[in-house]
Amino acid sequence: MWSIFRKLVGLIFYPDVCVYCGALGSLLCSNCYEAIEWSLLPPKLDINQPIASLEVVSMYNGPIKSLIQKLKFYGVIDVAQVGAELMYQSLNLPKVDCLVPVPMHPKRLSQRGYNQTYLLAKALGKIMDTPVANILLRTEYGLSQVEKISRPQRTQVLTRQFVINPSLQTSKLPKSVLLIDDVVTTGTTLSACVKALQTAGISVVHVATLAHGY
Ligand SMILES: [Zn+2]
Repeated sequence: MWSIFRKLVGLIFYPDVCVYCGALGSLLCSNCYEAIEWSLLPPKLDINQPIASLEVVSMYNGPIKSLIQKLKFYGVIDVAQVGAELMYQSLNLPKVDCLVPVPMHPKRLSQRGYNQTYLLAKALGKIMDTPVANILLRTEYGLSQVEKISRPQRTQVLTRQFVINPSLQTSKLPKSVLLIDDVVTTGTTLSACVKALQTAGISVVHVATLAHGY
């Protein structure tokens, strides 16, 4: 029922218009698709753990920035599908046991009502025929601190924030995962996620994000 209501609201307020230029017809028109600044090389990030691969669709600008903003701040959740298709088409994605979205802080999740990274992972998982698992949780610890402190301290606090979902049995954790995020900047958040996954024994961690910001 809720999904039908949301769809109706979406059709009224957000008919299929291009997220960047506003042209009617699709969520990303062909002109804006052509304007995407594809990321040809993986960005240099502060990821201290060994990762199997790192792939990024685009710089955080132009149509991709617009797409992520619509998904994150304007509730246009259908664009998660577009983001997932862009990832699938442009990235060299590995075969893994499951996709793992970067979790959202519980307070943010209750404010926004959804985790855009989970929506992205879900849409991508459907295309890749790979399950999505909320293996990671983000604890409440230290949210206000994270926004105020220096980078080394931030890494420490973030590392404590990401934990393996306690409802999952350690013996049933996958061997290989693809960690999904929407935007990566320094990489400290991803690094903390990778550390939590590897500490739990998940040795093969690939990473894919939609955009790389500064
Ligand atoms: Zn357009």
